[in-house]
Amino acid sequence: MLHDGPLVEHLTVSVYRIPTDLPGGDATLTWDATTLVLVEATAAGRTGLGCTYGSPATAPVVAQELADLVVGFDAFDVPAANDRMSRALRNAGRPGIAAGAVSAVDTALWDLKARLLDLPLVRLLGAARDKVTVYGSGGLTPYGDTQLERQLRGWTDQGIDRVKIKVAESWGRCEARDMHRTALTRSVVGDATDLYVDANGGYTRKQAVRVATAMAGLGVTWLEEPVSSDDLTGLREVREAVTADVAAGEYGYDLPYFVRMAVSGAVDCLQADVTRCGGITVWLRAAAVAEGLGLHISAHCAPHLHAHVAAAVPNTRHLEWFHDHVRIENMLFHGTLDPRGGSVTPGASGEPGHGLTLDRAAAGRYRIA
Ligand SMILES: [Mg+2]
Repeated sequence: MLHDGPLVEHLTVSVYRIPTDLPGGDATLTWDATTLVLVEATAAGRTGLGCTYGSPATAPVVAQELADLVVGFDAFDVPAANDRMSRALRNAGRPGIAAGAVSAVDTALWDLKARLLDLPLVRLLGAARDKVTVYGSGGLTPYGDTQLERQLRGWTDQGIDRVKIKVAESWGRCEARDMHRTALTRSVVGDATDLYVDANGGYTRKQAVRVATAMAGLGVTWLEEPVSSDDLTGLREVREAVTADVAAGEYGYDLPYFVRMAVSGAVDCLQADVTRCGGITVWLRAAAVAEGLGLHISAHCAPHLHAHVAAAVPNTRHLEWFHDHVRIENMLFHGTLDPRGGSVTPGASGEPGHGLTLDRAAAGRYRIA
């Protein structure tokens, strides 16, 4: 390596806890707030931002385990930084909270590099497409029918013609309500809108096949985590038995995870989350794994952290326009994207990096560390 780029001077981390607008929940978890961990990396007068949605415990990992592996090193050699961080976490444990920390730092470094070069991030990575298709994601299980309908209309009014709701409520114990909410969704969005469901691992194998078969009558074409994403055999069995595409991968914390999932035949579309998988560096590699096996990749949540990298690979299917994260990103950042018409065009503003800048006054109200 040439080592002739500017050196990273500072790496800081801050934590924000943002209450949800409505009680949140899916098949296997409930929540009333979302924690965003923000990393800022500075070099030569520019600052890059990276984030992960996860535990506040991510922040000390950044400060105590990773900062010294980034500060003082060349800001242009992001894969080298990613490699140093990943290796250093061997004994601490690489998946989970640590991977979220690596992901936030990695994304901050890519954003920093793009800003140092005065390029939109998608231009630095190299565009494979101009637009990235989005799908409206939410439909959380605690919502009443009126709340669900209002959210769905919010997406269709913006011209978003793909929507996803949560099913398998209470670990799959509410099948009748799952069917009711799915039918309601179909009636609200009409027949021309793609309808997806996400079970968050809440069904058993045969239950998933039964429910998916019934939901096929409602035109459900995407079945996310019908069983636990740790159950690759179960995912494959469900996949082989249903017409909907089976998707999983949101809990992938390293590249071998995506390889195992993809080669086992568990999914029709691989999902990867740039705020968990190891950042932009690893997301690109996960996309390559999928491409090599003839699979699409879909970007999981955190839409503004994904938009540029999703535009940089040829096999992106879509980007999850997740209600909770869209709301937070619009609250805390300037420079968010417009999904009207059902897609976003990262880099169109010409702003360098991923284009987000922190609204410090707005964010300060939610800061907890
Ligand atoms: Mg999901």
